Amino acid sequence: MTRPRTPDAELHYLLARTKRTRKGCKEWLGSKMKDGYGTVGFQGRTWLCHRLVKTLSDGPVHRSLEVMHICDNPACLNLDHLVVGSHSDNMRDMILKGRDSKAKITGADATEIRERYAAGETQRDISLSFGITESNVGYITRGLTWRHTA
Ligand SMILES: [Zn+2]
Repeated sequence: MTRPRTPDAELHYLLARTKRTRKGCKEWLGSKMKDGYGTVGFQGRTWLCHRLVKTLSDGPVHRSLEVMHICDNPACLNLDHLVVGSHSDNMRDMILKGRDSKAKITGADATEIRERYAAGETQRDISLSFGITESNVGYITRGLTWRHTA
């Protein structure tokens, strides 16, 4: 089977193979693991569908972080239902924080981001190493986030 390869086409392809539920979830109709998570091959790797959707939409997700469902539906690929967090984050915390990029990084990360940016590193390089979007790096370097948090 021929499959699209560009990120945009892949994202479109994945979301086209979902079924909308009453709760607003977009359930993956392709193959699933026993625990209900959808899986799909992309660029030579097998991905969890929801993690791939988040990556295609928002950029790389740092390997130490998980993409989690606020809707508790493992097959759901609705970007509005996906949040990024660490293993130790509890679910209630993630729901409260929603998709806010501040949930992905610590105050120490924000300090490092500002230092690296000041030292001449590009926003793109920084975004890739922290698994956040370039615009989030921009917010952090301009001090729009993390000013009042530790
Ligand atoms: Zn959902």
